[in-house]
Amino acid sequence: MEKIKNYIGGEFADPTSGRYLNNYNPSRGAVYSLVADSTADDINRATQAAQSAQSAWGRLAAEDRAQYLRRLSDEIMNHVDELARAEAIDNGKPIAMARELDIPRSAKNFRFFADAVTQFHGEFFNDTHSINTVVYDPLGVVGVISPWNLPLYLLTWKIAPALAMGNTVVAKPSEITPYTAFRLAQIADKIGLPAGVLNIVHGAGAQAGQALVEHPDIKAISFTGSTATGRVIAKLAAPQFKKYSLEMGGKNPNIIFADCDFDLALKTTLRSTFSNQGQICLCGSRILIEKSLYEKFRDALVDRANSLRLGDPLDESTEQGSVVSEAHMNKVLGYVERARHDGGVILCGGERARLSGEIANGYYIRPTLIEGLSPECSVNQDEIFGPVATLIPFENECEAVAIANSTRYGLSASVWSQDVSRCDRVANALQAGVVWVNSWMVRDLRTPFGGVKESGVGREGGDYGLRFFSDIKTISRPAAGGNR
Ligand code: NDP
Repeated sequence: MEKIKNYIGGEFADPTSGRYLNNYNPSRGAVYSLVADSTADDINRATQAAQSAQSAWGRLAAEDRAQYLRRLSDEIMNHVDELARAEAIDNGKPIAMARELDIPRSAKNFRFFADAVTQFHGEFFNDTHSINTVVYDPLGVVGVISPWNLPLYLLTWKIAPALAMGNTVVAKPSEITPYTAFRLAQIADKIGLPAGVLNIVHGAGAQAGQALVEHPDIKAISFTGSTATGRVIAKLAAPQFKKYSLEMGGKNPNIIFADCDFDLALKTTLRSTFSNQGQICLCGSRILIEKSLYEKFRDALVDRANSLRLGDPLDESTEQGSVVSEAHMNKVLGYVERARHDGGVILCGGERARLSGEIANGYYIRPTLIEGLSPECSVNQDEIFGPVATLIPFENECEAVAIANSTRYGLSASVWSQDVSRCDRVANALQAGVVWVNSWMVRDLRTPFGGVKESGVGREGGDYGLRFFSDIKTISRPAAGGNR
């Protein structure tokens, strides 16, 4: 069986423990490869390799670093079909989605930050007394920890700005979906990225991930994952005064007013609820519908959800693949049970789908919509992160905003109305890092991305990401004729 090894100092290496973990293909429910079970030893070796490489990498001109990033981007796109297939096998997502979204966006992350860093500059503050220059230096060696839902997309979203700013990286991808990170290491090797600039260490979060956060020579941690893990990371990083950026969970509301463009709102809500089997942090999982439109919108959405094609992720026509693991499937179905127990009505789905043939043992859940639950119950408060959403009627704008803001999360929201003033009012009142008006998941990579409340600390994207991966210094001197 293929072994997913660590990539440390430009070499592919077994973990020092010699141990490997099973890596599953969730659409088959079967082990298909093995992934390094790394420990603090491997993290230490990777950090040393990254430290040795940092000063030469950090001294390169931004344009030279950008050239390496562009080569990574090109090489990813040269392998788009193969990488899309690998992502579908590792994660269970439909191959068409991986080919259209995950892999092109991974390539774009490198190209975007290659361009961004060549435009990025320090600042200059001048007055009659002093001349002040603000410079952005690399931090040194930084740690990157990414989740399983958009494996290569989110890993590269962090690696690209870190490298662009002259840092070297130790990355710990999710143990559940390590394959495309392994391929990225092979691509880095192929394009001649200097040894030690990018190191990828695989393994369990509580072991390899935690060792990375705790390592004293790791200057910053950029993390995307659950709020529970983010809390652990913050506790470990704070006593060392490390910089950290935490992109965490969400319980995002889609707010549908009666005056919306019905067809567009319906089509987009279906997508925003069930894309990637609901396993995108930005998926809308609470669908708030104005009472006068409630029945019409509910019935149409249930119809559409029932007609989504669930099947083998490797089939080009599949719209819904499997969820990522058996444990995750059980967690999601546990919430459906809780909904039943709390008096919720399951309008569609609500169970494991048993498909036939090669995928008979895969972890499939039918798209599930639930109504009749109070906004306060756990199904409406906890992040479920699967193909499950609730429908909640509301009377007026004020009530919609109150329900939308009633969770501990604040990642994203969408608002559907043709009344521009109302959209503005609601968008401003929502507690969220991103609000989409009559749209969903429109991303300009220059804009800040992140959550409020328990959804996040810090912002990624554009200059916000580049600044995070920098030490900022002000150099001040008296102006000619100024006071000394
Ligand atoms: P987890 O928090 O379980 O894991 C995320 C990463 O952290 C994985 O690489 C994991 O390793 C690692 N990890 C786990 N425990 C520790 C630890 N103690 N110390 C250091 N690292 C650790 O999240 P999931 O992978 O389950 O991803 C789903 C979550 O990610 C959802 O909550 C979702 O909302 C969130 N997310 C947020 C996004 C955002 O931008 N705000 C975007 C995408 C997802 P391993 O897998 O090996 O255990």
